[in-house]
Amino acid sequence: MTSKFGFTKMDINEFETWISNLRVARTIIHIQEHHTWSPSYINFKGNNHFDLQQGMKSYHVSHNGWMDIGQHFTTFPDGTILTGRSLESTPACILGFNMNAICIENLGDFDTGKDLMTVEHKNTIVRITAALCKKFGVAVNSDNVVYHHWFNLTTGVRNNGTGNNKTCPGTNFFGGNKVENCNQNFCHW
Ligand SMILES: [Zn+2]
Repeated sequence: MTSKFGFTKMDINEFETWISNLRVARTIIHIQEHHTWSPSYINFKGNNHFDLQQGMKSYHVSHNGWMDIGQHFTTFPDGTILTGRSLESTPACILGFNMNAICIENLGDFDTGKDLMTVEHKNTIVRITAALCKKFGVAVNSDNVVYHHWFNLTTGVRNNGTGNNKTCPGTNFFGGNKVENCNQNFCHW
């Protein structure tokens, strides 16, 4: 584990131990999956995790006017994880659906034809989600593990991607960004 700019970098094994020992007062019901879109794989140089995370924080604070980086965690193409916003704070990731949620930003653009998710990244995304579900007693299903694509961008109402939605976490995220893709390929372990 190493720390810089107030973020801590871990591999997935370190994360599983760290999260199991962490005390969190906030009530967690939902785990959100996102892709960063930009920065994406082309911006990852293998050793610039902290700079990319700090860049996202600067954008969120200076451009969006938020109090902190929006997400709780960022996963990287090499399978490492960086902490972001404190788990005791509500994230800024899905308008109208951040209360009682943990926000995971997966670095990359996982729309069809864009970044091809590495094996290490896939493994970490599954295991970080599983570890968080286990930690907070969240049942693994598409009611609790949610994709940004399923929420109306203006109202925050869940519509499962039927209008006014982002593609996030990507039209090719574990085979697609629809509820059925989640049920078949992601949130079914
Ligand atoms: Zn998103």
